[in-house]
Amino acid sequence: MVEIVDVHKSYGATSVLKGVDLVVKPGEVTVLIGPSGAGKSTLLRMINHLEKADRGLVLVAGELIGYRRAGKHLRELREREVLRQRTGIGFVFQDFNLFANLTVLDNVAEAPRSAQGRPAKEVYPLARELLERVGLADKADAHPRQLSGGQQQRVAIARALALEPKLLLFDEPTSALDPELVGEVLDVMKSLAATGTTMIVVTHEMGFAREVADQVVFMADGRVVEQGPPQQLLRTPAHERTRAFLNKIL
Ligand code: ATP
Ligand code: MG
Repeated sequence: MVEIVDVHKSYGATSVLKGVDLVVKPGEVTVLIGPSGAGKSTLLRMINHLEKADRGLVLVAGELIGYRRAGKHLRELREREVLRQRTGIGFVFQDFNLFANLTVLDNVAEAPRSAQGRPAKEVYPLARELLERVGLADKADAHPRQLSGGQQQRVAIARALALEPKLLLFDEPTSALDPELVGEVLDVMKSLAATGTTMIVVTHEMGFAREVADQVVFMADGRVVEQGPPQQLLRTPAHERTRAFLNKIL
């Protein structure tokens, strides 16, 4: 589903990604861990067109992200095509990013209305169904500020699902939440994983990784240090760097 090949990225003189390779199979959950500054967010942002690689390729569902092939050359995509690719990928951020002035229902309905131009009579039933799925059917008419952080994040997940994405990206979805609200968000993510949604999740919730991940990827200093099934990577890491990191967070 996702193939990342030798991706490099620098900001000025700072090299942030130094040749990252990663494969995510359809229907699998990949948990991405690593110290602050490792490049985890940058990598996710690259998959969703929020950043552009200096070198290397990013493919989602066999499509080159940001470019189209024309003969031997890579041409940049037009804005319209970028938008089409982006709507196939849902992104859930640490700080929810909901529209404060819209109701919960309108937050979920907004993207399929504006990005896909789908009619209201089709979008609103879908939005209600998604709110049901994240356990918030009764909050459809509330505004984000009236919800807890955990509820807001569940709305953000419903909103990401509204575009019926083939891939969902999560960047530390629970790290802005009070500890007692983390579980309800992880539960929604677990139920998505159980339905075969392809997900890449940056998180330090190791219980979630152990239970749900098909593979755990440890990044440090702009590189993938090691990757493997959770039992292996979390219990018997091959690299000292991974061990030291796990000792700190477990
Ligand atoms: P964290 O766990 O703290 O979220 P991360 O692994 O997500 O870390 P990134 O946010 O990808 O790390 O950042 C990697 C490096 O790139 C950091 O050193 C950061 O300062 C730098 N960086 C990220 N975005 C930019 C930017 N727009 N301009 C300059 N430097 C940036
Ligand atoms: Mg980050």
